[in-house]
Amino acid sequence: MNNKTTEHIRCADCEFARPDKSASSRTWTAFECGNDESEYHRCLLNFTPNGDKQPRITWTGCELGERRQSL
Ligand code: SF4
Repeated sequence: MNNKTTEHIRCADCEFARPDKSASSRTWTAFECGNDESEYHRCLLNFTPNGDKQPRITWTGCELGERRQSL
C-alpha cells in the first residue's frame, strides 16, 4: 500500500498550472501546465480547441496533477 491517491484534479486546482508570459497579451494572462511528466506539459490551460481565450483555467486536468495547497 502507498499513500498516494490517484485523484483526478482540475488544472484550476493544480499547483503545476502557471502563467505563461510569452503567450499572454496585455489584457489576458495565459496559463500553461508546468508538469514535465504530464502529457499536457506546456499546453495552454485557458484556451478552447476553437482558439478562444478564456478568462479562467478551463482545462479538465490529468491524473498527474497535485492539489495546490491553500493557505
Ligand atoms: S494538465 Fe495535469 S499536471 Fe498539468 S496543470 Fe493540469 S492537472 Fe496539473
